[in-house]
Amino acid sequence: MALDFGFTDKQEELREFVQKVAESKVKQGLKEWDEKEEMPWSAIKGLGEAGLLGMIGLEKLGGKGLDYISLGIVIETLARTDSSCAMICSMQNTLTTLTPGWDEDDIREVYKGNKLVCIATSEENAGSDVSNISTAATIDNGDYVINGEKIHVSLMPGASVMGVSVMVPTDDGKTRMEFLKVPSDAPGVSCEIMPEMGMRSHQLGRVGFKDVRVPLDSALGKDRDNIKDGKALMYARWNVTRCLSALNAIGTALAVLDETIEFVKKKEVYGRKIGMNQAVSFPLIEHYTKMEACKLLAYKGLWKNVRGEDAAREATMSKWHGVTAAIEAVGSCLQMYGASGYLKDLDVERRLRDVMGLAFTGGTINVMKLVVVRELLGKEFMGLSRK
Ligand SMILES: Cc1cc2nc3c(=O)[nH]c(=O)nc-3n(C[C@H](O)[C@H](O)[C@H](O)COP(=O)(O)OP(=O)(O)OC[C@H]3O[C@@H](n4cnc5c(N)ncnc54)[C@H](O)[C@@H]3O)c2cc1C
Repeated sequence: MALDFGFTDKQEELREFVQKVAESKVKQGLKEWDEKEEMPWSAIKGLGEAGLLGMIGLEKLGGKGLDYISLGIVIETLARTDSSCAMICSMQNTLTTLTPGWDEDDIREVYKGNKLVCIATSEENAGSDVSNISTAATIDNGDYVINGEKIHVSLMPGASVMGVSVMVPTDDGKTRMEFLKVPSDAPGVSCEIMPEMGMRSHQLGRVGFKDVRVPLDSALGKDRDNIKDGKALMYARWNVTRCLSALNAIGTALAVLDETIEFVKKKEVYGRKIGMNQAVSFPLIEHYTKMEACKLLAYKGLWKNVRGEDAAREATMSKWHGVTAAIEAVGSCLQMYGASGYLKDLDVERRLRDVMGLAFTGGTINVMKLVVVRELLGKEFMGLSRK
């Protein structure tokens, strides 16, 4: 019997543990954090103390040394309460392990919840088209000197160290992309908040670099096999993070569906429970079915990553379909609450705003489909060749 859809007892215990952490350390602050557009350090510290920021991290650095499936369980379960916390947890786990080269002391502090790291790639003309970045580093007097501007940077302000994608000069007179470690308090770094529609407590920043100096040994990913440059470093992380983004959206939608099912079993209109109308019950079961199917696909992607297999198909399929179907599910649930769902009093409007943000992180829905086109039809059908 090779095929096994069950989680182990230990994994089920982990799910219960994370659920308790979310209830005790996250749930009560959600409304306030959303309104203030800020998550307090005490909440991040709470995630660190519970070990959730270093689930797949090395034990010698304070991590738990678990695998991607366990991390998936953590993200799905946290997302049932809050997508921002799930995203912060996903970023800290994957950046510190799949983008090697951070200072070990920084990693220890991240796992304790005392520091955060982030990745700054996107620019005004380089969102989906990540190769088109214009932020550049020149070499001067034994330092890299960075100039440029990044946008949509998660956890800025807040993160202590950024991995910044830059074009660096090579010996043959050309340039290649690298990710350089840059302390966020380095002279010449500026940051302003870009107010968001959803996941407001996690914060997005516009980060400027004006003659920012970092040492020549600041490149991330140096010690990793098969990593030729910064682009390869980015690709190595995506097959995991895209499955996690799918599970973040799916966890969000499943929690909202569960709550809505309880609601339609009680709420009466025209003298009967609204759940007795098939125009109400059918969409609920349709969304639930899609969520369960996408969940399997996302966990299959993580399982392939654990086995060291290429999970590009599962990661991109689960992300585009999981996030799209989750947005539809939460929107549909909101309708079932009537006008109450549209008001701030109920949490469903926040959940809808939050889940929409997951359509962009780590690549848009269309970009996910382009990867599937590459996988199924071939690279030449992606239609991405530059003129
Ligand atoms: C919540 C959140 C967190 C984020 N965190 C980070 C972060 O930490 N670090 C970071 O660097 N960035 C981050 N981003 C930015 C994110 O990576 C980008 O939004 C994403 O890569 C898309 O880029 P863009 O928004 O500039 O869209 P664009 O690339 O400008 O695309 C615009 C639209 O055109 C579509 N499109 C473009 N080309 C094609 C094509 N060939 N075929 C079909 N459709 C196409 C896209 O799908 C999209 O709908 C974050 C964004 C969000 C919303």
